Amino acid sequence: MTNPLYDTLFAPLTGQSRVLLHLANGQNITAGAFAALVGQLAGALLASGVGPGDRVAVQVAKSPEALALYGACVAVGAVFLPLNTGYTATEVDYFVGNATPRVLVADPVNMAVLAPVCTAHGAQFLGLSGQGTGSLMDLAARQDADFAPVERAGSDLAAILYTSGTTGRSKGAMLSHDNLLSNARVLADLWQFSDRDVLLHALPIFHTHGLFVASNVSLLTGGQMVFLPGFDPEQVVAALPRATTMMGVPTFYTRLLDDERLTRDLVGHMRLFISGSAPLLAETHTAFETRTGQRILERYGMTETNMNTSNPTEGDRRAGTVGLPLPGVDLRIMAEGREVAQGEVGVIEVRGPNVFQGYWQMPDKTAEDLRPDGWFITGDLGTRDAEGYVTIVGRAKDLIITGGFNVYPKEVEDLLDAQPGISESAVIALPHPDFGEAVFAVLVRAKGAAPDLTKIRAAVAQRLAKFKHPKDYAIVDALPRNTMGKVQKAELRKTYAETFRRPS
Ligand code: AMP
Repeated sequence: MTNPLYDTLFAPLTGQSRVLLHLANGQNITAGAFAALVGQLAGALLASGVGPGDRVAVQVAKSPEALALYGACVAVGAVFLPLNTGYTATEVDYFVGNATPRVLVADPVNMAVLAPVCTAHGAQFLGLSGQGTGSLMDLAARQDADFAPVERAGSDLAAILYTSGTTGRSKGAMLSHDNLLSNARVLADLWQFSDRDVLLHALPIFHTHGLFVASNVSLLTGGQMVFLPGFDPEQVVAALPRATTMMGVPTFYTRLLDDERLTRDLVGHMRLFISGSAPLLAETHTAFETRTGQRILERYGMTETNMNTSNPTEGDRRAGTVGLPLPGVDLRIMAEGREVAQGEVGVIEVRGPNVFQGYWQMPDKTAEDLRPDGWFITGDLGTRDAEGYVTIVGRAKDLIITGGFNVYPKEVEDLLDAQPGISESAVIALPHPDFGEAVFAVLVRAKGAAPDLTKIRAAVAQRLAKFKHPKDYAIVDALPRNTMGKVQKAELRKTYAETFRRPS
C-alpha cells in the first residue's frame, strides 16, 4: 500500500516518544501521540462515510487536532479543504456549495448557523473546537489509533485550497500529493531543515504558508514546532529562545521590530528567519538585520503553485527580491507573448512539479491561467536581474494605466516609503474622467510623525516622470490587510473611488 503524503509525513511519527508540538500553554505533544490522533481521526472520518476523493471542508481554530485532521484526511484518501476561520456562514455556503464536501468540520458553537449550509448541500456537520472538543473528537475517541492508510497515487488530490479572491469568486486550487511533496522536499533541502530544528509556527493553517510550507517541511524533516494559535508578541517573544527557525508574513517582522524586546541576544541563536506571502519592504529587511544581525530570507509562492522562488540559505539574500527559482521550477517573465529582456517588467509564469492541477470545477478559469504545456500565469509582475534574482513589482491587476502610460505601483511606493515621516504606502489606480485611471497614493504616517506633503510632492517630481506622479494623496495610520498581511488594494480602491469623479 502506498499513500505518498501519508507515508512521508505522518507514518514515520508512529510510536516516537520525541516532542513534536510545543503548545502555548506549556503542554507538549509527542510525535507518537500525534500519530495516534491522526489514526483515530482517520477512523472517525471513515465511520462518517468519508472515502477516497471525498472533500472534507474544515473551518476550525488552529490546534493540534486541526493539524492531525489534515493527516487524517490524507490517510483516508480524502481531499483536505481548509477554510479561513474569518469566513461568514454566507461565504462558507459558497465553498460548501462549490466543493460539495462529504463533511464540514467546524466549531460546535457555529453549528446552528452552519447546519442549514450542510443541509442545503448534503454535507454532514462534525464539531471540533479550538480546545479539541466536539462531535468529531467524541467519535475519534472511540476509534483505534492504528489506521491502515488508503492507497493513493502521487497524482491524486490531497487538498483543495481556495484562493483569497480579492476580485470575483474564490477558486479552489487542486493540489496533488506530488505537488505538495515535491515542494516540501525542495524547500527542506534548500533551507537545510533537519530534526534539530524547532520551528516557531504562529501562522494560520488554513493557508498554504502555515499548512504546507511550514508544517510539511517540519514534518518531513522530523523537526519540532512551537505551535502557537496566532501571532501574539508575548507568546512569540517567550517562544523564540527555544526555536531555531521562524516562518512569518512581513507583518510578523514589523511587529517584532516595534517591540523593544527584539534584540540581538533574543535571537542570536536562531538559524533562519523566513518571510513570504506578501512583500517584505527592503527597509524592514535592513532594520531587522541592524537590530538583530539576522538577514531574513524572503521567498515567493502562491496557493496554486506552492513556492516558486527563494533567496539562498547560504549566499546572498537580497533585500527587496524574492530570490532565484527553486530547483526544478522553471520561471519566465512574459509580455506580449514573449519573454522580456533582463530587467524589464512582465508577468511571471512558472512550471514544475509544484504547479497545481487546475481550479476545482472551473475548466474555463483553469484554461485562462494554466497553459496546456504546463506554464501557470501567476498574475504577478516581476523583473529578473543579471544573476537571476526575481523582484515582484505588484499584481498585473494592480497595474495603473493612466493616459495610456503604464505605472507600476511598486516603483512609486518605493520612493514614497523612503520619505521622512512615512512608514509605508500603497499606490493604486482610481477612475479619472480625463486619464481613465489616475495614480493615487495612500501614505501611512510613521508613529508620531507629521509628513510634509509639499516636500513629498517635490521629491516625487524630482525623481519620477510626470505621468507617474500621484494626482493626490491620503494620509492614514494603517493600511487594510488580510490575515496573511497582504494589503487589500481592492478595498482602498473602493474607499477612494470618488476622489477624481466630476460632480454630476
Ligand atoms: P496566496 O495565494 O494567498 O498565497 O497569495 C499569493 C500571492 O501573494 C502571490 O501571487 C504574490 O502576489 C503574493 N506574494 C507571495 N509571496 C510574496 C513575496 N515574497 N513578495 C511579494 N508578493 C508575494
